[in-house]
Amino acid sequence: MSNVVEERLRALTRLQVIDSKLDEIHRLRGSLPEEVSDLEDDLEGLETRKQRIEDEIKSLNQEIASRENKIKDFEEQIKKYDSQQMNVKNNREYEALRKEIEYANLEILTSKKKIRQFGEQIEGKEELFKHTSTRVDDKKQELEEKRKELEVIIADTKTEEKKLLKIQEEVGNKIEERIRLGYQKIRHNMRNGLAVVTTDRGACGGCFSIIPSQVHIDLSRRERLIYCENCGRLLVDPTFFDEIQVAMHDSVKA
Ligand SMILES: [Zn+2]
Repeated sequence: MSNVVEERLRALTRLQVIDSKLDEIHRLRGSLPEEVSDLEDDLEGLETRKQRIEDEIKSLNQEIASRENKIKDFEEQIKKYDSQQMNVKNNREYEALRKEIEYANLEILTSKKKIRQFGEQIEGKEELFKHTSTRVDDKKQELEEKRKELEVIIADTKTEEKKLLKIQEEVGNKIEERIRLGYQKIRHNMRNGLAVVTTDRGACGGCFSIIPSQVHIDLSRRERLIYCENCGRLLVDPTFFDEIQVAMHDSVKA
């Protein structure tokens, strides 16, 4: 009688160890693809920013060129007015030309000031461009590393996953359906996926509620399936649990 129960306990514990390992593999893969896609989004955002800064610098340079043309035009005009001033017939005409020259000089001054301001803006933007380029390079490198990491994990875990799935099937087939379904139901209800737990310092390893000392004695006898009264998980004697985990570890790595 006790032998049958012990075998059942052993099988359920083995199943739990396998399922936890499979959960771990899925968790590992689960976060990396997300990290890779987050990095891809970041990189795209940074590239867009880089492009925008480049466009802004280009348009500031165009502004400078147009201001320089304006200055040339006004300088030409001033030359023209200067020669006209030589041939004026009266004071009124002279005064009108003087005002035009004054206006042209003011325009030249304004444009020169603007060119200086644009130049300063370009300097700032070039600094920003450099900074953004560095960030792009860093992200690219980080992305490449994460992609490699993901590839390695997928390649690495594929073999282990295959082995685990095979053992999972073998072990699962040895357990009566009723008990196996019960195990799966508990497992799915638990966020950490643990349906079989051991006791830890007198408490349930799943919910940490205190287990009465009589239950500990019953657990060590391995004569019946004992469930935690608080969380409903199947409880297993710690020594027994450790034995199985060590044995499982060896068989999966082999
Ligand atoms: Zn519990």
